[in-house]
Amino acid sequence: METETYFRVAFLSTFVREAIHPDSRSMVKEMIESIHVAFKENLKTLAWLDDEAAMWVESKADAIKYFVAYPDGILNPEKVDEIYDGLEIVEGDYEENDLSVTVYDHLESDFRVFKNFGKFYSNTILYLDFYSYGRNASYTRTKNQINILAGNLQKNYLSPDFPRWANYGRLGFNIGHELVHAFDATGKEPF
Ligand SMILES: [Zn+2]
Repeated sequence: METETYFRVAFLSTFVREAIHPDSRSMVKEMIESIHVAFKENLKTLAWLDDEAAMWVESKADAIKYFVAYPDGILNPEKVDEIYDGLEIVEGDYEENDLSVTVYDHLESDFRVFKNFGKFYSNTILYLDFYSYGRNASYTRTKNQINILAGNLQKNYLSPDFPRWANYGRLGFNIGHELVHAFDATGKEPF
């Protein structure tokens, strides 16, 4: 059993509550909006892009979905506990816990824990990697979605204490980078 696999929603919940400033997520959303506006403004300056292509780029950009760090429900520890309702974990007994989790995960239905994760993530991608407190950002072509993980919402990437230019210079750079992936050699392909 990998502890991280089964408990990552619990870890993410703790991590966000302990380490991420409550204003961070709305700061990121604001940055996304202004970068989006700047991106579209910039299209008008590109002499090599004809009107038809520019319209296509604009409509695809407008359709991009963003997953920023964590879903709302994760801040409520009681809701997180429901994922593991009835699971017994004892301190210091790896084998016993391994068995308990395996039985729990399959007793009522297959992959019960993962299915319970889905209660928090119903509108986003269900790759486990993105249930993560890691530091990464990515673009998922099949969903036309940009993902910014919770680890990116802390210093040195973002802080309410930093001047705006510093936040834009660091996390803003990542947001712009992922946005451009929607139009690169792979991202532009339909799926
Ligand atoms: Zn990249």
